[in-house]
Amino acid sequence: MVTPTPHHSTTELAERLGVNARVCAVVATTPLSPSIHEVVLRGDASLLTGPPGSDVMVRVSSGPESFVRRRYSVRAVDSDHDQFTLWVSTEHDGPGSRWVQHAAPGDPVDIVGPRGKIPLDPAADWHLFMGDVSALGAFYRMAQSIEAPGRAIFIVEIDSDEDALTAGFDEGVGITGIFVNRQGRARNDPAGLLSGLAAFALPPDEGHAYLFGEFSIIRVLRSALVDRGIAEARISNKAFWRMGRDNAAHGEPDKSDN
Ligand SMILES: Cc1cc2nc3c(=O)[nH]c(=O)nc-3n(C[C@H](O)[C@H](O)[C@H](O)COP(=O)(O)OP(=O)(O)OC[C@H]3O[C@@H](n4cnc5c(N)ncnc54)[C@H](O)[C@@H]3O)c2cc1C
Repeated sequence: MVTPTPHHSTTELAERLGVNARVCAVVATTPLSPSIHEVVLRGDASLLTGPPGSDVMVRVSSGPESFVRRRYSVRAVDSDHDQFTLWVSTEHDGPGSRWVQHAAPGDPVDIVGPRGKIPLDPAADWHLFMGDVSALGAFYRMAQSIEAPGRAIFIVEIDSDEDALTAGFDEGVGITGIFVNRQGRARNDPAGLLSGLAAFALPPDEGHAYLFGEFSIIRVLRSALVDRGIAEARISNKAFWRMGRDNAAHGEPDKSDN
């Protein structure tokens, strides 16, 4: 049974951000791979989800009496059934990964949304998506909104070959993808993604790069793309999490220099 009103802190947060707060119900949760768990939520999907690239804030338990917010990109929206889908990474222990692995159909969940400031660049001829599995849901939804004859290039680091989940795209959209297996490297080691990037001759026309994932890796990838001649204005990056540090209770990773 879904409770009709969100916790007062959720409502206050949404008011402060100028977005919506709702209690959604878990419809289903499914492990898609060793590192990615899918959760489908029902309730006010079109109000909460925003355009491709947007995320929602989920209030999850972090202890017997405590809660934190975690942000998850919207993977898909099914307006006919008033549902939306999130892909949540689970290869670590944290309140967000515990929530998705234990969620059961009918569970109420406080959601704030839509959030996010990185939409698809409509003027770009091609789109480069780079990051780890935590970004795959955002990348696929954004790429599925590309209109022909646009092109998408994915360079995504995975923990095991089963994490190389695929998606369907519009006919006429050019798709190139490289999954780089981490092969035991540290999760803040950019070597895998840098070697994936080195394998690519970037197209000569105008592209836009989207970098989502681990804080330090995203920084290194951004400079690598600038070195490859991509203008700063054509690179959108967002740290989703940071190696060895919990995201803060409001959902953002620590962005300090130490
Ligand atoms: C705008 C935005 C969108 C996001 N979208 C998504 C999304 O679609 N899917 C998704 O899975 N996450 C996404 N994230 C990250 C997500 O919000 C959580 O921070 C992340 O899932 C970890 O939360 P947690 O509570 O499980 O662990 P935390 O309490 O944050 O961290 C616990 C420990 O696990 C480590 N850790 C955290 N995440 C990972 C990881 N992915 N791999 C390895 N170790 C990790 C931390 O370094 C820490 O040591 C997004 C973040 C932002 C800011």
